[in-house]
Amino acid sequence: MASPNNVNSHLILDDVLGAVGNTPLIRLDRIAKEYGLKCNLLGKAEFFSAGGSVKDRIAKRMVEQAEKDGVLIPGKSVVIEPTSGNTGIGLALVCALKGYPLVITLPEKMSLEKEVTLRALGAEIVRTPTEAPSLSDESNIGVARKLQRLIPNGVILDQYRNPNNPLAHELTTGPEIIEAVTSTPSTPERPSSGKVDAFIAGAGTGGTLTGVSRALKKTHNKDCVVVAIDPQGSLLALPEPLNILKDGQSPNYQIEGIGYDFIPDALDRDWVDVWVKTKDDEAFEKVLELMRKEALLIGGSCGSVMAGALRYLKSGEGWEKFGSVSGKNVVIILPDGLRNYMSRPWFLDSIRSPKPTPLAEQIAKALDKD
Ligand code: PMP
Repeated sequence: MASPNNVNSHLILDDVLGAVGNTPLIRLDRIAKEYGLKCNLLGKAEFFSAGGSVKDRIAKRMVEQAEKDGVLIPGKSVVIEPTSGNTGIGLALVCALKGYPLVITLPEKMSLEKEVTLRALGAEIVRTPTEAPSLSDESNIGVARKLQRLIPNGVILDQYRNPNNPLAHELTTGPEIIEAVTSTPSTPERPSSGKVDAFIAGAGTGGTLTGVSRALKKTHNKDCVVVAIDPQGSLLALPEPLNILKDGQSPNYQIEGIGYDFIPDALDRDWVDVWVKTKDDEAFEKVLELMRKEALLIGGSCGSVMAGALRYLKSGEGWEKFGSVSGKNVVIILPDGLRNYMSRPWFLDSIRSPKPTPLAEQIAKALDKD
């Protein structure tokens, strides 16, 4: 059957854009077992996409649609985009292939690895202060707007407002998940309800949540429960009191790509059923756990999604509906990979000073005797 993304991965691809999306849905049995979950916990591994993240899909679609609409003109337009990095990398792939110059405005907080990947693909980078409110002139959004005024033929595709952001997920990510779940047979060893019962993702621009939720609820299972993950310090969650910081809680968080101080148009919160807030520490812990147990080379926000998903599934509501029921399919989005975060202290410190293991002690003893 042709994939929803119209990519025949067994044929020769025209270029690397043919390798955007069509990512695997992978059972997370070891994590499910560890936490006593009976449902099928399934991870949509977006780091397998050409540029390494869930955002390649929207970059491709926003550019292709802007060309059709005559907004982007090859040989003339300059693409400018404010991003937390991954949309930038997706756009850098597309722009390198199509020959558009690209300027990315990126908050200081975002990793060096993202900047290096962007530069490798030929993009220009302007760093902006992390503490600048998103809607101020100094933020990455404000600076991108300023550059658009100053650079002739500058075009901002604007992932925060562009309907092609959620649409890319409604037309590709969602249908891919539905196809994988409905095509996998239920067996006595691995029972399946045959449908997506719950979908869990982090909220950045909200494009993934809005688009996938629409695909699932409109065309597949109107009762699918959609759970959104929002870091502590961000303002996206509902009901509003969830966003209020308690004494001693910091408004700053290190996790990249999720959470905002304004509600992007691409996030239609009507398509979300439940919000869960997460903290950096639990996210970092879950990243390492997913790496060690499931051998998935994931990025930071995957840890937030995993931590939030487990909290929800182990809660009364989630446990009764999904956690304790075998055969229910719970899909979580794993938005990007380790490549983006190799040098981040939260990762590197834990790798450089690992907890002592019996094997490490055995090695030390053996070398000592030698
Ligand atoms: N995780 C990471 C690492 C991201 O870069 C993004 C995109 N900002 C997201 C999650 C959230 O995706 P969306 O913008 O579709 O909400």
